[in-house]
Amino acid sequence: MDTIQITLPDGATREVARGTTPAEIATQISPRLAKEALVARTSGELIDLSRPLDHDTKLSILTAKDPDAVQVFRHSAAHLLAAAVLELYPNVKLGIGPPLENGFFYEFVRDEPFTPEDLEKIEAKMRELAEKNIPNERKLIPKPEAIELYRKSNQQFKCELVEEKAVEPMVSFYTTGKFIDFCRGPHIPSTGRIKAFKLMNVAGAYWKGDENNTQMQRIYGACFIEQKDLDDYLHKLEEAKRRDHRKLGTELDLFSIQDEAGPGLIFWHPKGGLIRKLMEDWLRDELLRRGYDLVFTPHIMRLDLWKTSGHANFYRENMFGPIEVEKADYQLKPMNCPGHILIFKSHLRSYRELPVRLAELGTVYRYERSGVLHGLLRVRGFTQDDAHIFCMPSQVEKEIQDCVEFAWEVLRVFGFSDYQVELSGGDMSRPQDYTGTPEEWKAAEDALKSTLDRMKVPYKSIPGEAAFYGPKIDVKLVDAIGRPWQLTTVQFDFNLPRRFNLEYVGEDGSRHMPLMVHRALWGSVERFFGVLIEHYAGAFPVWLAPIQATVLPVSGKFSEYAQSVTEKLKAAGLRVHLDDRNEKLQAKIRDAQLQKIPYMLIIGGKEAEAGTVSVRHRSQGDLGPRPLDQFIADLHTEIESKAI
Ligand SMILES: [Zn+2]
Ligand SMILES: [Zn+2]
Repeated sequence: MDTIQITLPDGATREVARGTTPAEIATQISPRLAKEALVARTSGELIDLSRPLDHDTKLSILTAKDPDAVQVFRHSAAHLLAAAVLELYPNVKLGIGPPLENGFFYEFVRDEPFTPEDLEKIEAKMRELAEKNIPNERKLIPKPEAIELYRKSNQQFKCELVEEKAVEPMVSFYTTGKFIDFCRGPHIPSTGRIKAFKLMNVAGAYWKGDENNTQMQRIYGACFIEQKDLDDYLHKLEEAKRRDHRKLGTELDLFSIQDEAGPGLIFWHPKGGLIRKLMEDWLRDELLRRGYDLVFTPHIMRLDLWKTSGHANFYRENMFGPIEVEKADYQLKPMNCPGHILIFKSHLRSYRELPVRLAELGTVYRYERSGVLHGLLRVRGFTQDDAHIFCMPSQVEKEIQDCVEFAWEVLRVFGFSDYQVELSGGDMSRPQDYTGTPEEWKAAEDALKSTLDRMKVPYKSIPGEAAFYGPKIDVKLVDAIGRPWQLTTVQFDFNLPRRFNLEYVGEDGSRHMPLMVHRALWGSVERFFGVLIEHYAGAFPVWLAPIQATVLPVSGKFSEYAQSVTEKLKAAGLRVHLDDRNEKLQAKIRDAQLQKIPYMLIIGGKEAEAGTVSVRHRSQGDLGPRPLDQFIADLHTEIESKAI
């Protein structure tokens, strides 16, 4: 018998007849594997389970546990979508249909736009075709025949793809019932497994992403192997929508972006401004406690300074244009570093002064295309919680450790428990692309690594990802619904100290170049505030809440007592609001809930008589009556402990 040798992932080998398929081998291994199998991997290549094996090879049978197999599954779902659309709208022209991170899309040309009702119909058709368990079959067709086939069916975009992309004389196609696609594959064996999907929306896109080309309609779908995972994903999307900081920013009157002023520029309204003050107060106290010096630097500085720093060259695309004043060009600052360097250089430093840690809540302006701006998260003007540390090599590990510990404190105080750390290094196989010597890079990367190791912080190393001027640590915090946000950066810089000839007088009496580290914890006040809004869904902890308690008299009869309660709370330093509108109590409670005010103090006859307040919490509901002094003491404890 003509046999070939198959090597399985555990190293076991099998002799099988030439032409045996991965599906048959899966069945030999176990019925369960045969049932769960989606696709196979031979030496480096994904193939259909039905593809006959014709030579000795390694073979893995992939199930839902393998991310590549899940993408194949999603790609098959895109084919199912196209098949359903063709059944319902036989005249549509087909574009491409790749898998995506959580689903797929397929693009079509059709004169009428797809409506939400169309999507419902298409989804129902997809389910119908899925239930028929139609096989996804691979065919090899000679290229001219393939072009002819698409020409006859008026699929000019597919024709174009075959003409451009098909390199071999035989072209691979996949059919799902009547739908036939020029496609490298592989695919799952048939449509029956595709159950957990939902069509999400339609968006316009140009053919091949070129705006001179035909406008296509992309139908997007979410797709998972298990219904539970789809449900989780849809729930998370709903949550993200509910938490959207742009929506909450308006509803809670925290901030706005004004078209009259320009895109990407943030107006902090009184309530947002108050939260910012509390955030900044905490940060400045913490900076001083940790040995930083607070500085302020100008918002515009001579363009020449930015030439010295190099930003006028390598960062030009991110900068606003220069402003001419008395025949000299000035530049709106995109970064705080050169300003801090000028302060460092303002006198000759001795090693005794190091480390010098200069911190500034420094507002910078950067040009971002209007298309990428997004609420508070991507803006044109923002305030970095920036600092630059100038130190000796012997001090740097301690400084990095302090930065990481500071970042942990930020996470703790602002209520995040989960984080991810990444260490980006250089690729010293091309040292010409970097400023600084390979020895400097190695020492810096070693310092970052050994600090994280010593602190037992798990991290992911990403060699080659660092900017040209130095390696760095990034900390992403993970919010209440599991989304990671890149905020904290601790970054070495071998470029600026050279460009500005930074030096200090060492213990040996001679001049040395200090190490320079940029670091930001929040990243920017705006971005961090946006993340906080979404993390808390607008329900800020009491220490940050712009209004901590609202006093709600049940009727006008008790307004005098309500007034005195309000005064007493204010005198105790609490942020309190009296809602004495002539409204029903239920309406007042609803409004307070919508404003996410932590405590509602309900005042009626009993309370007025006993000198108490009936306490209602925004999430815990009714907490019963409490003496006013007791409530004040409790609230102070909650504020001081920064309880989440
Ligand atoms: Zn395909
Ligand atoms: Zn900097």
